[in-house]
Amino acid sequence: MTYTSLQSPANRDYRYDLKIAHLYGNLLNTYGDNGNVLMLKYVAEKLGAKVTVDIVSLGDHFDHSYYDMVFFGGGQDYEQSIVAKDLPAKKAAISQFIDQDKVILAICGGFQLLGQYYVQANGVRIDGIGVMGHYTLNQENNRFIGDIKIYNQDFKETYYGFENHQGRTFLAQDQKPLGQVIYGNGNNKEDKTEGVHYKNVFGSYFHGPILSRNANLAYRLVSTTLMTKYGPDIDLAAYQDILAKEVAEEYADVKSKAAFDQ
Ligand code: GLN
Repeated sequence: MTYTSLQSPANRDYRYDLKIAHLYGNLLNTYGDNGNVLMLKYVAEKLGAKVTVDIVSLGDHFDHSYYDMVFFGGGQDYEQSIVAKDLPAKKAAISQFIDQDKVILAICGGFQLLGQYYVQANGVRIDGIGVMGHYTLNQENNRFIGDIKIYNQDFKETYYGFENHQGRTFLAQDQKPLGQVIYGNGNNKEDKTEGVHYKNVFGSYFHGPILSRNANLAYRLVSTTLMTKYGPDIDLAAYQDILAKEVAEEYADVKSKAAFDQ
């Protein structure tokens, strides 16, 4: 999927307006990561928000006060090294965005580049923008590939995904993981952490894409974004009312198809 800007349909009544910056969406978009954008738009529209998604890429100005949410996807080492050269120009704006408690979803390469540094598969170290404390080491001739399941204690939610990364990320003292690993490798295969949750930044190694497999997380990100923009008391439809039923129906459908195939 290549686009420069996505818009909600014009002919509806909207209560809210949501502007999403898709950082480097034309370079970092592996393993269906762009599906996260479609899921954010889907959930936001269900919550009554008119959505605009713009790709903000090399040489573009990132206006942190204009955008309400950022999505930053994953990619190969080569694309990451190109993005790493452009990122310092956006560092101050991204840092202010985080300090204003705005929501960022960063997957894999994007998650790595928000941190201190990333060591590529070939051993070459590239700088992250250092707006967060984590750092990422490489590993010899190996990648972490496979299904993964984690549990977030604070939210009491379970998330499912598919990881495919060579980087091994280690969190800083002030960072919590997105979840504890139930099965899979997670950030580094050593400490059972997966991803990061720091202020309203959510980082993860989950492809899948993460949000279409985890509607609970998509709801959390969109509702948090709307509450950050319009205040904590805004009237939002509950997850149970707008998504839980669809997820259950989809799951039942998948299960009955699987039974049929046997
Ligand atoms: N190139 C990075 C790694 O291999 C990120 C991969 C990704 O974004 N899927 O760790």
